[in-house]
Amino acid sequence: MRNGKLKPGYNIQVGSCNGFVVNWSTHQNRNDNGTLIPHLERYERFFNKLPESIGADSGYGNQENYEYLKEKHIKNYIKYPLFHKEQTKKFKSMKYNWQNMEYDEINDKFTCPEGKKLEYVKTRHDKTETGFIQENRVYECSDCSNCTHKSECTKAQGNRQIRFNKKLWQLKNVARRNLMSEKGLEMRGKRAEYSEGIFGQIKWNMGFKRFLLRGLDKVDLEWGLLCFALNIKRMNKKDIEKLKEIAMAKAISLSKNITEFLKQKIQLLSS
Ligand code: SF4
Repeated sequence: MRNGKLKPGYNIQVGSCNGFVVNWSTHQNRNDNGTLIPHLERYERFFNKLPESIGADSGYGNQENYEYLKEKHIKNYIKYPLFHKEQTKKFKSMKYNWQNMEYDEINDKFTCPEGKKLEYVKTRHDKTETGFIQENRVYECSDCSNCTHKSECTKAQGNRQIRFNKKLWQLKNVARRNLMSEKGLEMRGKRAEYSEGIFGQIKWNMGFKRFLLRGLDKVDLEWGLLCFALNIKRMNKKDIEKLKEIAMAKAISLSKNITEFLKQKIQLLSS
């Protein structure tokens, strides 16, 4: 940068299965949440299918990604930003927080702690950074003027309003159920080891701190080669007999795909 500071120019992503890299991608998008769909589209090109389930941290948990997973029938184990916080006693005790107010889905109304109904008044459409349109429904309490708890409930001059993205709420309910299931707990436990472990290995153990090439295509190529190198390293190191059959098959299949992909890229870049 012109101020002498160094900022990351590429957002690199990795998909893993049992510790092996099964997909990689490189983006010029500072937010992780905008990288999930293109990352999975590449996976589909490699394997001619999509994964059956996927786990990721809360940086990927937004409506656009959740809807994509639903449409593609991929089981969703992706956290959303408040996933851990909403399980705490402190969060649950915040009774004026709209997430803790009772929502009647049939009659489409919220009930506040003082027993007043908040009814639907209008819909707002908001655009995310990726251009995705979110529908936010606005609900309003009929009369907050005599409420003795108004200062705890809202800073608004008028009645308390709630902005509610119903679709996202429904999708989050599904994600929460999955994440709290036995399989969800297992996936959450392994996610850090498998995904973060890959970055740890490449950055610290293999000593890779900075890309040597420049430009999105070339950096993507370099990142692919690194992932490929890590897979080879792990195949050598691990007791092959003990590896789950599926992970090995995927790793071998990926290696073939990567070799082909890298060959094409090298040819393209050197022509
Ligand atoms: S301010 Fe309005 S919405 Fe909030 S608790 Fe009081 S009556 Fe209910």
